[in-house]
Amino acid sequence: MTEKARIATLWLDGCSGCHMSLLDIDERILEIAPLIDLVYSPVVDAKEFPENVDLTLVEGAIASGEDIAKIKLVRSRTKLLVALGDCSVTGNVPAMRNNFLLEDVLQRGYVDNATDNPGAPTREVPKLEPKVIPLHELVPVDLFVPGCPPSADLIFFVLSEVLAGRVPDLSTQCHFGN
Ligand code: SF4
Repeated sequence: MTEKARIATLWLDGCSGCHMSLLDIDERILEIAPLIDLVYSPVVDAKEFPENVDLTLVEGAIASGEDIAKIKLVRSRTKLLVALGDCSVTGNVPAMRNNFLLEDVLQRGYVDNATDNPGAPTREVPKLEPKVIPLHELVPVDLFVPGCPPSADLIFFVLSEVLAGRVPDLSTQCHFGN
């Protein structure tokens, strides 16, 4: 890429561990920083997801109506959409609740185990969907980067390859279950 690449990261239903792994690139960020504009991310103060994004790394599964709206918008504005980490690739930990009815999960979390003010929140939090799904069940995904979280080395490889104008070949870098 000759111009600066417009890069974004998105945090859906995940623990933030994948973003922490991204930050674990440490000083190698200095190699990447001159080549990119970070246009949207939990680590920058951008309110709206912008148009014409070259690459978006997506952490987390889709668990709420808010997640659905976000990922559809992000997909429509992103050239290369990357599922970053097992939650976005397979559903992983957030999808463990799929074995139970949503009402039972909320009852367990917000009533049975509550020590104060029992009751699920009904305002100012996104309404959960009955089932958690990985990204590709809702939108096309261009690249799957497995791991819980993916290693900083693997994330750096992905970013380096994309910035060099190549599609990252992960077949020699990782495998599922690693
Ligand atoms: S893949 Fe692992 S580290 Fe990443 S958001 Fe999910 S649980 Fe957290």
